[in-house]
Amino acid sequence: MAGYKGHLAGATAFAIGYLALLAYAFSVDAAYRQFTFMEQVGYPLALVGLALLFGLWPDVDTDSKGQSVFYSIFFAADLFLIVTEQFRSAAYLGLVALLLVLSRHRGWTHTWWAMLLVPSPLLLLPYLHVPERPLVGLPFYGAAVVGYLSHLVVDRIT
Ligand SMILES: [Zn+2]
Repeated sequence: MAGYKGHLAGATAFAIGYLALLAYAFSVDAAYRQFTFMEQVGYPLALVGLALLFGLWPDVDTDSKGQSVFYSIFFAADLFLIVTEQFRSAAYLGLVALLLVLSRHRGWTHTWWAMLLVPSPLLLLPYLHVPERPLVGLPFYGAAVVGYLSHLVVDRIT
């Protein structure tokens, strides 16, 4: 079984392949050249970061580095929701966090449908909030799915 370092290495390799693919797509599309330098640098960094995060995500169902990373994020998010008095959202987040520790290891978080479903807010939220640019979340969703896929592949071959 691969540790978190194996999963980070796998996600990095997959992310580089994904960036190469996007870079090719952008090179065909002249519109990309109008982005500022910071956008051109920050955008790939965000995509790699997402791929790495989702490369660790599936092991959230077991005692792992991924679990401590995501529960730290849950904790910060829950604290933020409580401080800003968004109690309903805080309750749902708590329920999700509870369900995750009740899941059996290599259960649903290690399935192909979860790979497509779990990152879907990255696609849907921008779609709902920026309707004039409905596909703005697509590269981010793609990066998350690529990272997720790397985890399933690394688990399969180790
Ligand atoms: Zn795993």
